[in-house]
Amino acid sequence: MSVRVRYAPSPTGEPHVGNIRSALFNWLYARSVGGTFIVRIEDTDQARLVPGAEDAILDALEWLGLDWDEGPRKGGPFGPYVQSERQALGIYGEHADRLVAEGKAYLCYCTPARLDAMRKAQQAAGRSPGYDRRCLDPAEAERAQAENPVPVVRFKMPVEGTIVVHDLVRGDVSFEASLLDDFVLLKSDGFPTYHLANVVDDHLMEITHVMRAEEWLPSAPRHLELYKALGYEMPHLVHLPMILGPDRSKLSKRHGATSALHYRDDGYLPDAMFNFLALLGWSLDDSTDVISREELVARFSIERILASPAVFNAEKLDWFNGVYIRQLGVEELADAMLPWLEAGLGATIDRDYLLRIIPLERERLRKLSDAPEMLSFFFEEQPAVDPEKLVGKGMDREATRGALEGALTVAEGAEPWTANALEPAYRALAEKLGLKTGGLFGAMRVAVTGRTAAPPLFDTMAVLGRERCLARLRHALGALGG
Ligand code: GLU
Repeated sequence: MSVRVRYAPSPTGEPHVGNIRSALFNWLYARSVGGTFIVRIEDTDQARLVPGAEDAILDALEWLGLDWDEGPRKGGPFGPYVQSERQALGIYGEHADRLVAEGKAYLCYCTPARLDAMRKAQQAAGRSPGYDRRCLDPAEAERAQAENPVPVVRFKMPVEGTIVVHDLVRGDVSFEASLLDDFVLLKSDGFPTYHLANVVDDHLMEITHVMRAEEWLPSAPRHLELYKALGYEMPHLVHLPMILGPDRSKLSKRHGATSALHYRDDGYLPDAMFNFLALLGWSLDDSTDVISREELVARFSIERILASPAVFNAEKLDWFNGVYIRQLGVEELADAMLPWLEAGLGATIDRDYLLRIIPLERERLRKLSDAPEMLSFFFEEQPAVDPEKLVGKGMDREATRGALEGALTVAEGAEPWTANALEPAYRALAEKLGLKTGGLFGAMRVAVTGRTAAPPLFDTMAVLGRERCLARLRHALGALGG
């Protein structure tokens, strides 16, 4: 039987990186075994829906190259793939009705106020909270109905014993039945709960493996009983480890951005993010971290999914991004950087000029969004120059003036205008002026770039070109004052 896996997000907020990690593992597994990857939108909790969230989630998948075989924007033979649309077809109601008819579920008329009071009393008495099964008694149910005519449907769970679910990563996991109450299948608005819709759809969509975050593990014993009651076979379960922040508390906004789209919009490369997320709960071995998408597909296995929590380390992500940036060819990197530069600098960028700049800056670049700031001095007409910074260590204003005047003269006559020719010419100048090269080159660097830290000076001057350098040296002399 061929593998069918699904990513089943609820459109209740941003595409959280932890949630997208679930999508990625499902995708990887499907692609690694030639299976089918399905996206299903679980939007039955109408109160929690956030407008735009579904599109944001799908956009995040597309950005990361997690293409799906069936689902929204795509269709497929098991549609519709949005639960509210399936609800309108009566799919969940039919299932609930069948369970009620078979005595495996029952109508509950208890009011929210009663349930609330019950919960408080249980808490006060130190008992675990759960429905007290009042409406299981027909006489009681009738009495409750008089007060509240619109029922929910509850599933009849076993009251005692142990429920054992098997997880492919964690092995057998046991749950005390007495701690699991008769949960709601169908709400009073006629919408199914997550449990009912999820189980029914996984069955109808012929899902073979459920891979989802560990936080859903407590739902598994409920689902197991529900599968049994419906006479359906339960898919294999794979719960993915929790994702923590560096302080080892659950990853949240406190740790920084959690939306996958934030990373897209902040200039991360999808391949870097892909590699980084793949290692949140899976490993190839104990040491390899840079793994291409193709290799991940080839090597992914459920056996190497970890049970222990993964730590989301934003510095590591930056490191990955640097690695992937350096793996790009100059042309590819130019294409990736151009929109960022044009937006950030508000100017049209000469691509050929950029192609010559990239080799100088590629090593230092961590993310595309840093490019405008990092490269601005190449494009500005005249970068701002702070006269204080022109005067380097062991120099005074006079010496700096002499240095810059000498630099200007050399620049006027240097032939050819290449880094290889410029360097000896300027070393000779330092000697002639009796200056340390550090002092001369430092002043020149500030003059031509406006910065104290920049790529190697003569390569930078070569790329900037003679005219720009002359203009900037003259400007620096002006800034230095008489
Ligand atoms: N809709 C659930 C979520 O938002 C899906 C959980 C599952 O995969 O079963 O994560």
